[in-house]
Amino acid sequence: MISTDPNKFQAIISHAKEYGFVFQSSEIYDGLSAVYDYGPWGSELKRNIRDHWWNSMTRMHDNIVGIDTAIFMHPTIWKASGHIDNFSDPMIDNKDSQKRYRVDHLIEGYAESLNAKGDTEGAEKVIAEMDRLLAASDMAGLKGLIEVFGIKCSVSGTASWTDVRQFNLMFSTQLGSVAEDANEIYLRPETAQGIFVNFLNVQKSARMKIPFGIAQVGKAFRNEIVARQFIFRMREFEQMEMQFFIRPGTQKEWYEYWKEERMKWHTTLGFPAEHYRFHDHVKLAHYADAAVDIEYAFPIGWKEVEGIHSRTDFDLSSHQQFSGKKLQYFDNEINKNYVPYVIETSIGLDRMFLLTLSHAYAEEHWTKEDGKEDSRVVLRIPPRLSPIKLAVLPLVKKDGLPEIAREIMKECREDFYCFYEEKDTIGKRYRRMDALGTPFCVTIDHQSKEDQTVTIRYRDSMQQERVPIATLRELVRAQIK
Ligand code: ATP
Repeated sequence: MISTDPNKFQAIISHAKEYGFVFQSSEIYDGLSAVYDYGPWGSELKRNIRDHWWNSMTRMHDNIVGIDTAIFMHPTIWKASGHIDNFSDPMIDNKDSQKRYRVDHLIEGYAESLNAKGDTEGAEKVIAEMDRLLAASDMAGLKGLIEVFGIKCSVSGTASWTDVRQFNLMFSTQLGSVAEDANEIYLRPETAQGIFVNFLNVQKSARMKIPFGIAQVGKAFRNEIVARQFIFRMREFEQMEMQFFIRPGTQKEWYEYWKEERMKWHTTLGFPAEHYRFHDHVKLAHYADAAVDIEYAFPIGWKEVEGIHSRTDFDLSSHQQFSGKKLQYFDNEINKNYVPYVIETSIGLDRMFLLTLSHAYAEEHWTKEDGKEDSRVVLRIPPRLSPIKLAVLPLVKKDGLPEIAREIMKECREDFYCFYEEKDTIGKRYRRMDALGTPFCVTIDHQSKEDQTVTIRYRDSMQQERVPIATLRELVRAQIK
């Protein structure tokens, strides 16, 4: 049974700040809501997740190439993609508190309260009815549901609601310096469109044959209304997306293929399979003929981390129509021209970061051999993702030990991130490295001078063993592959 743990979530947020993983944006100005900055170790962890995704897409598949497109795009792109007309969430305002809610969140919150009271059947009914109304875009019906159950605003405590309205999530700005000749453009709400509009450029220049994929990592922006779940829901965030172009009619098998392939990616990283599940979409987006979320059991509950969407030929056909340029592929195996179908895999880099911290964070307490209590906070980050791989710690600051430590740094730092520390007791230094998720620490002592060995200490087991300095680099490399 997997349960939520709001205290753990708060502890992760504090830990992330204290240890230089994530800071509130513009903190000295009291912050900017739902916008965050990554600190020294956060930016390393984020980069490692990004690189791992990128490599597993582009290096591990012969038929996937990468791309890096601009955030600003021609405004008609968002008309063609359907975002101007459809990229909105149903919202409702409480007239007394003026607080705005996403309707699905409000109803889900009510269902959760039923669950907490043991009325799981009632909760399921509410969600099923909500899904039905969302699928039918029945705004009046959604308001009716809120009224029937007497759902109240948590701030005012009243049930005095406005009508349900659609609210577009795209940010817009002006292109050009003079307002009069300015053009309204949008900050992209997803990276996928940069891939679609470059489909032929990539296919031709990289000589790709269908089936093939184009991968991209980059910033996306959404004016999220409900934005108080740390980096789970941000207004500026990063996506890692891959569009896989296929022959029409083969979408079902490729959809299944990518569902399985993406789940494997998560579990082979070392995250437990029982913390994952698939959740099929009831209300399909305007572009999709099938869609599923990969959900993870975060401390705040089961939540989406990645989406897999069968996008049909919607985007390419639409861009073809709006741009007047052909976006077709000649398939010489079947001697036919067609607009390819697309399977998309889309994962939030920041959400994957939060998933990693949620899995990794542990507070441990135990009794030592001398009967005294001990404890630590440890981040059990999969070693290949850890910000620091190896901490190099001379026991004392003299007797030639720092010199040996510096030699080890020189030997290893080109291969993986090494961190040198000579302040504080060894015990304190170990604790700090545990809190940063460093999988290996080596201590250089006086014996090291005599026999060229060091003590390696493993983060997860806290076991220590003596190993020759000459084997260190390979030892760590083998564990972070
Ligand atoms: P949600 O239902 O949580 O709003 P979504 O279904 O709109 O998400 P997609 O459009 O499928 O999300 O985007 C793909 C991925 O991008 C999501 O699975 C998520 O990991 C990430 N993502 C989307 N919106 C945000 C956000 N506001 N902050 C952080 N990550 C996000």
